[in-house]
Amino acid sequence: MPDRIYNFSAGPATLPYSVLQQTAKDVVNFQDSGMGIVEISHRSPPFAAVIAEAESLLRELLAIPDNYKTLFLQGGASSQFFMVPMNLLAPGKKASYLNTGVWSKKAIAEAKLFGEALVPYSSETGGFRRVPSQGENQIDPASEYLYFVSNNTIYGTQYQKMPVAPDHVPLVADMSSDFLSRPIEVSKFGLIFAGAQKNLGPAGVTLVIIRDDLLERAPASVPTMLRYKTHADKGSMFNTPPCFAVYMVREVLKWLKNLGGVAAIRDSNEEKASWLYQVIDDTPYYRGHAEAASRSRMNVTFNLPTPELEKKFVAEAAALGMAGLKGHSSVGGCRVSIYNAMPQEGVKTLVAFMRRFAAENPA
Ligand SMILES: *Cc1c(COP(=O)(O)O)cnc(C)c1O
Repeated sequence: MPDRIYNFSAGPATLPYSVLQQTAKDVVNFQDSGMGIVEISHRSPPFAAVIAEAESLLRELLAIPDNYKTLFLQGGASSQFFMVPMNLLAPGKKASYLNTGVWSKKAIAEAKLFGEALVPYSSETGGFRRVPSQGENQIDPASEYLYFVSNNTIYGTQYQKMPVAPDHVPLVADMSSDFLSRPIEVSKFGLIFAGAQKNLGPAGVTLVIIRDDLLERAPASVPTMLRYKTHADKGSMFNTPPCFAVYMVREVLKWLKNLGGVAAIRDSNEEKASWLYQVIDDTPYYRGHAEAASRSRMNVTFNLPTPELEKKFVAEAAALGMAGLKGHSSVGGCRVSIYNAMPQEGVKTLVAFMRRFAAENPA
C-alpha cells in the first residue's frame, strides 16, 4: 500500500483498504450495470439487496434479537441528541443522563428542551477522566430512560461494564465511537445509536437499534421524519436513504465478518490499546488523561511534558506517515484513535516512534 499512511484521526477515520478498493470500483460501475452505486435508484433491486444485506449482517454480528429494529438515518449522531428525547421523553416526564464529556453534555442540553434531565453522575469537575463504575449512582426509577455515552471520543474514557438501570428503565447509549468494537448484549438496551464515521463507514449515516415497544412512545406532535416509527415501518426507505454511506457500511460489515466478527476484533483492539498504555505506564514522559479503570480501547489520550514537545511529536509523527495525533481542541495533548480498521502494524509503528521520541527529546 505505497499510497497509504497510518491515519489516527478520531473521525471521519481510517477504513479498511480492501473496502476502499472495492468502493473505488463500485462508484464507477456497480455489478457490471454500467452505473455507479451512487447513481442507481434507492428503489432498484440492486440497492434493495445492499441495504437488506447491511441490515442482516448487522443483526448477525451483534446477535440483535427479533424485537429490535435497525434503522439507517441521516442527520449525524448529533440529531439523536434531540430525536431520543423527542420520541421518548414526554412533557412533564424525566430522564437520567450520565455526564462523561462533551457529547453527553450536548445530549443533556437537548433533553431539557423536552422534559426534565436528571444528571446523577458527572465527571466534569475532574476533567472527564473517568466513567462511573456499575451501580455507582442511584438512578431515579421514574426515569423514562438512562442515557450514557459508551466511549468518550474526546477524553479517551470508556465503560468496561455497561451501566445498569432500574427495572423497566431502558438504557439508551451513544456508541458512535465504539460500535462493533466489542460484543454487546443488545437485549440490555432500549436504544443504541452510532454515527458511522468512526468505526463503520463514511459520514452520512447513523445507525439506530431500537426495541419495538419504544417505537410507540412518541407524542403525536413529533414530525413524520423525526419519528423512529416512520423509518421502522418503511425499512429505512420512507424517503431516500443515504445510499452511498449504507453501501460502504455493508462493505465494512462484510470485512468485519470475514475477520471473525466482533469478538475477534475486540481481541485485536484490546491488544492494540494495551501496547499504547504500556508505553504510558512505562515512562512518566507520557501522561495518560484517563484513569486506568476507565481507559478507552478506541481513543488513547495523553500529554507530553510540554505543549512545545507535543507540537514537535505530532509534526515528526506526521512526517513519518502517522497522521491525526493532535488531541481535540477542548483538551489539547495527543489522541491516538485506533478503531477497528487501524491495522496492528500501525500501532506497532507508533509505539516504536513514541519510545524513540521520548529518548531523543528529554523534558
Ligand atoms: C463524533 C461523535 C458524535 C457526533 O457525531 P456527528 O455525526 O458529528 O453528529 C456524537 N457522539 C460521540 C460519542 C461521538 O464520538
